[in-house]
Amino acid sequence: MGIQGSGKGTAANKVAEELGLETLESGAMVRALCQEDSELGRTVKAYSEAGKLAPDDVVIKMVEDFMSKQKPGQPILFDGFPRNLDQAEMLNDLLESLHQQFIIVLLELDEETALFRAENRRICSNKACRKPFPATYESDKCDEPECDGKLIRRKDDTSEAIAVRFEAFKKQTLPIIEAYEDKVLRVDANGTPEEVLAGIFEQLQPYFQQVSE
Ligand SMILES: [Zn+2]
Repeated sequence: MGIQGSGKGTAANKVAEELGLETLESGAMVRALCQEDSELGRTVKAYSEAGKLAPDDVVIKMVEDFMSKQKPGQPILFDGFPRNLDQAEMLNDLLESLHQQFIIVLLELDEETALFRAENRRICSNKACRKPFPATYESDKCDEPECDGKLIRRKDDTSEAIAVRFEAFKKQTLPIIEAYEDKVLRVDANGTPEEVLAGIFEQLQPYFQQVSE
């Protein structure tokens, strides 16, 4: 978990790849279920078509369904879930019933730095590319071979939209961190993406040794 600008998405992909985790990403999970001819699939599709977020009890059913499709003992990385304390409590109950446990990796970032990063990140304007670039990237041209697209700010990165996402983090995510403090691994996210990643691996190492022993 981490505030916008903490590099959560990039780090999540690398960690999953390196440690052999299956990623439960909420958007992808919804899209997959919408294609499925099952009761749950039809329920999810109805919410999706109405442009509504599924209620927590449906979300937890989706998670349970996702987990039942994995190999036994497969470690899972949850990305974009749980979104609030209710969902976290349901996940905790579900995992307890399966004799499994979760840990939270929290990417900690000063609010000032987070705001600076959110306001200064850009994407490639080339529609076929759309590569994201962090605030620390200095050039205004894309670095993909044969792209050379100009970098622009994303339409949804207005100050108002950023403020709304920060507020949502404080209201919805921080209560999860407080409630499960003993499961939280804190990583300093003020450094470069490489430093953040190294910090995550250092914190996760003991857990993955336990699993393989
Ligand atoms: Zn590009």
